[in-house]
Amino acid sequence: MMRRAAVTVQGMVQGVGFRPFVHGLATRLHLAGFVRNEPHGVEIEVEGSSSAVDAFVAQLKTSAPPLVRVQEVWVHEMRVAGDKTFEIRTSVRAGERTVLIAPDQATCEDCLRELHDPRDRRYRYPFINCTNCGPRYTIIRDVPYDRANTTMAEFEMCPRCRAEYEDPTNRRFHAEPTCCPVCGPRVELLDADGKRIACADPIEEAIHLLSLGRIVAVKGLGGFHLACDATHAAPVRLLRRRKQRDLKPFAIMVRNTQAAERICEVSDEERAALVRPERPILLMKKRSGHDIPDEVAPRSNSFGVMLPYTPIHALLMEGPFEALVMTSGNLTDEPIAFTNEEALDRLRNLADCFLTHNRAIHIRTDDSVARVIAGRQRFLRRSRGYAPFPVTLPVDTAGREILAVGPELSATLCLTRGPQAFLSHHLGDLENVAAYDAFLQAVEHLENLMAVTPRVVACDMHPDYGSTRYARSSGLPVIPVQHHHAHIASVLAEAGRTDQVIGVAFDGLGWGEDGTVWGGEFLVCDLAGYQRVGHLAVVPQPGGDVSSKRPARMGYVYLTAAYGEQAEKLAEELMPELSADERRVIAQQIERRVNCPRTSSMGRLFDAASALLGICSENTYHAQAPIELEAHAWDAGDESGVYTCNIEVEERGVCVVHASDIVRGMVDDFRSGVSRVTCAARFHNSIARATVEVCERIRDRTRLNAAALSGGVFANAYLLEHTMRLLEGESFEVLLNALVPAGDGGVCLGQAAVAAWRCKCV
Ligand code: ZN
Ligand code: ZN
Ligand code: FE
Repeated sequence: MMRRAAVTVQGMVQGVGFRPFVHGLATRLHLAGFVRNEPHGVEIEVEGSSSAVDAFVAQLKTSAPPLVRVQEVWVHEMRVAGDKTFEIRTSVRAGERTVLIAPDQATCEDCLRELHDPRDRRYRYPFINCTNCGPRYTIIRDVPYDRANTTMAEFEMCPRCRAEYEDPTNRRFHAEPTCCPVCGPRVELLDADGKRIACADPIEEAIHLLSLGRIVAVKGLGGFHLACDATHAAPVRLLRRRKQRDLKPFAIMVRNTQAAERICEVSDEERAALVRPERPILLMKKRSGHDIPDEVAPRSNSFGVMLPYTPIHALLMEGPFEALVMTSGNLTDEPIAFTNEEALDRLRNLADCFLTHNRAIHIRTDDSVARVIAGRQRFLRRSRGYAPFPVTLPVDTAGREILAVGPELSATLCLTRGPQAFLSHHLGDLENVAAYDAFLQAVEHLENLMAVTPRVVACDMHPDYGSTRYARSSGLPVIPVQHHHAHIASVLAEAGRTDQVIGVAFDGLGWGEDGTVWGGEFLVCDLAGYQRVGHLAVVPQPGGDVSSKRPARMGYVYLTAAYGEQAEKLAEELMPELSADERRVIAQQIERRVNCPRTSSMGRLFDAASALLGICSENTYHAQAPIELEAHAWDAGDESGVYTCNIEVEERGVCVVHASDIVRGMVDDFRSGVSRVTCAARFHNSIARATVEVCERIRDRTRLNAAALSGGVFANAYLLEHTMRLLEGESFEVLLNALVPAGDGGVCLGQAAVAAWRCKCV
């Protein structure tokens, strides 16, 4: 029986090879009709046998090309029209824009094959791409997504590229950034003064300079990297000196998974994560006997590794080096440089030369950073390759679109449209002026790309965050969301849950509602609200931020809490780097309560433990002391010892965890000769055990069985895996972040979810 159906498809379906796929599928099934792009998605009409139409609809979802994300398919029966062929029609441009913009994707296998094929016209052409790969988010200026609205607009296609672009059977059909050596962008090599270095092949020359130990700034998808040979200590040391970065590990790029396996222990999940087209930097355990010098990732037991993701990277990695350092092109704390002018200006004292090109980057986008924890890839930073792909909320925000501006550090923001929350790239620490500018730009860019004007702004409760001030001055209704509530809400949003759970939010700091700084929090919460039902016992944080930078100060605070009078003598013994003068200042700050906030921060407790074990007394980068403490814990092997800890129940039933007990157990152990690594492991185990005990008490009272864990401290794989195992052992249902970071990069999603819920209920 003949039948005709109109099929409307929504999702990430434009600029990703969807129409040629539809054309091929329809032709194979002997269906007539047409396909065309519409502002809200792709519209198809098919006509043929009833079974073929059914097969067509089924296969739309199951056999689409790699970048396609089909979210909704609607089918309407129509009257048979008698079409004989299937064609791709030109777009009708009107109506609302709801198509998804694709993130940037690593060069695909087909393009790599052509890149290495001497007979191909794009042989060794560093900008090769197709409908399945290449730049997207970083080059889009406006929607709809076509070439005229990207930074490729100024490159007019040559006749051969144009023919491929217009041929529905070609794999470059409507690949907007398509180009070739005749018509596309070019690489060039510039010296530190921006003068062109004469050479036959800039990439060959860059390889040569890298192998001589030089530092080369390389323009990638979302910004510039600083590259040097990672297998020799001298260039890495030089780069550290120039970047003014003593200890923070550098990311490295290796040719393929085999090369990654020579320097790291790579699990199956990690291998899969490495080769994903999103190409995150993956943190993996160093393999013993690897030949990467210490300077690359000093005092760390892991390397941050990524595989090449642009054709320029693929060609560079043909050089005679096992690995290249690829660290973002900036001075510490500044955002990554992304325009040629900016790079030449800001990186001239850092790089010896610039491997750059004339395809502009419209939106700066740092590399994403991930780690496999508890069997799944989890984000430390979600940016290139993922932005702006949305997370689906459990609440529809149509007509009540929300802009969630995030917190202050590791900021991201998000914008909702219907049930979807679109997260920006990583914006950095907003206290930095350049990062705040990037924040303003990102707001405008997302609103434009998504064609959404927000009606409500969600922000942190902290009054002094740049993002909060932005929200307050926006003129829109503002919904402040408590920081740790937002952390837990981000887990709920990911899981599509609106029920009540036990939330465990551990991080460095967040604005508390009682005048203290929160960060070791147990909440009973859902999207509507929360109740604080437990927390770490409050301790002074003398000097505020000064103590976040200097873990030894928190070590001293916890010694005082644990040992009273004896603390002086112990501090002298365990942390000689903390002078008597500094101790006196701290003691005065505590006594006079001047510049001395009180905090329940779990991050500060980890700082203290790290300093007391003589591991790290100064954070030269974010969370250094806890990161180094965790590395020690892993080295202890199967250590299951714990220190006991008093959990006091206050009159309103609030559980207070007296972590100074744990500190006393650890210090006694350490002083009696127990090794540093064993102490570090037992410290972690004790926090995990105390956490589970508090969850059990909350469950006894509330009958809630789901525990959601979030907050930056849970980037600690040892802590997360141990806590999870214990919780599951007590038959809790454990919920974790997997689509957004557990750290502050995920907070905007939680803010959006809470605001969406509250708007819905008005
Ligand atoms: Zn490709
Ligand atoms: Zn061309
Ligand atoms: Fe946080």
